[in-house]
Amino acid sequence: MDPPRPHVALLPSAGMGHLIPFSRLAASLSEHCHVTMVSILPTVSAAESRHYTDLFSTYTNIHPLHFQLPPFDSSAYPDADPFFLRWTCIRDSASDIFNHLLTTSRFPISALVTDIAVAGSILPLTKSSGMPCYVLFTSSAAMLSFFKYFPTYRDSNPVSTGDVKIPGLRTVPVASLPRPMHDPGHMFTQLLVQNARSLVKSNGIIVNTIESFEPDSLAWLRGEQSQSQSQSQSQSQSQPGFPPVIAVGPLKPVKIPIFTIPTVLTWLDQQPEKSVVYISFGSRTAMSKEQIRELGLGLEASRCRFVWIIKTSVVDTEDQTELGELLGGGFLERVEDRGFVTSKWVEQEEVLRHMAVGGFVSHCGWNSVTEAAMHGVRVLAWPRLGDQRINADVVARNGLGIWQEDWSWEGEEGIVSATKISHRLKEMMADESLQETAQKVGEATRNAAMPGKGLAELVRKLEEFA
Ligand code: UDP
Repeated sequence: MDPPRPHVALLPSAGMGHLIPFSRLAASLSEHCHVTMVSILPTVSAAESRHYTDLFSTYTNIHPLHFQLPPFDSSAYPDADPFFLRWTCIRDSASDIFNHLLTTSRFPISALVTDIAVAGSILPLTKSSGMPCYVLFTSSAAMLSFFKYFPTYRDSNPVSTGDVKIPGLRTVPVASLPRPMHDPGHMFTQLLVQNARSLVKSNGIIVNTIESFEPDSLAWLRGEQSQSQSQSQSQSQSQPGFPPVIAVGPLKPVKIPIFTIPTVLTWLDQQPEKSVVYISFGSRTAMSKEQIRELGLGLEASRCRFVWIIKTSVVDTEDQTELGELLGGGFLERVEDRGFVTSKWVEQEEVLRHMAVGGFVSHCGWNSVTEAAMHGVRVLAWPRLGDQRINADVVARNGLGIWQEDWSWEGEEGIVSATKISHRLKEMMADESLQETAQKVGEATRNAAMPGKGLAELVRKLEEFA
């Protein structure tokens, strides 16, 4: 007889970088469990709103549960990033959200999966109510290791921040720390420390990573001594006091029909195999106009074919870009025979899986890294903020890509010149050994997806609560 199906509720916070892995997890779990997904409204971006609509209409076995946030007075946080602000707002409404979930759910919930960004306020509620709760960590295992250790570091360094030496693993240089974390009083730092301290109250931490991609970080998180030991032990074996870490990667992409005419794919169909560089800095990273122009000149000088997704605002609804004006006189005309430039949303998975794509200039948001890994596409890492330098280090260490560490990111002076960009681009596209190692990463990643051991383990654990 089949085991009874658990009812799992998923609680994403805000931002496509969080919503996409949640949707992927929800879709995979819905093959084994009853799934409810909470959507917190209004969404911060139009992309999130569209994504929820498409997800719920395509995956009718994912049950939507909407929660309308009360108005939030943001005057105490002038200039705050709108996504950080939303995490704070969800934190403040956590008990209302949790009660809403308990009282309006169609039948009792066996377990909750909460977003790491709001874990610090959700885990005390699940713990005191006795509800099993897992955390979906939306970045790399390398970032999770840093995250786990950082409260200890903060306790012994309460007023200043330097290189963070994670005992037994590696040192994260201060230059690679998310910029707000240089300031112990910053709202992001405080939220992060609160979330990190709460992890011990969870039943487990789910990471969209692949065992072979981050063996050292995963072994460290699990308290294992070496890679050979880690292979002989259950993959989620925990360190005393720290919950099991389950590597479910790579999560399969959700198959949402593309309603817009896929012009970018039509354009790619006409390009030679592996000839195109895809340039995108994720869903919410805006580059300065000056840097955008320099990047454009670098692309032009490289003579590479390219697909370039441009974002000038953190939130898509504020993007009023007129590309011709932004890029300067005649740029679009000069590159029209070998460049596709847009400020619209493109389905990145579809682009990366296309055979014409041979390189990816990426900010190294973790979803982008896992997507590049899945398709074995070489990466030129250009982190812009947050966890991205820590992720870029994973990319470089694994032979998926190269990382020019001195290129500037948020809060640093300096524009990376067109000459440097063009040089690095040409180098990446000509580097056959990098292409080979990236393809090997692709094979290993796709092989990990086939048996889906991590996901099967998570389902087994969830079934215990049915
Ligand atoms: N994405 C996309 N089209 C775009 C921009 C982003 O499909 O035009 C997707 C991308 O494939 C990834 C997610 O949005 O799954 C962005 O997450 P990531 O962690 O890479 O970066 P973030 O946006 O959180 O900085």
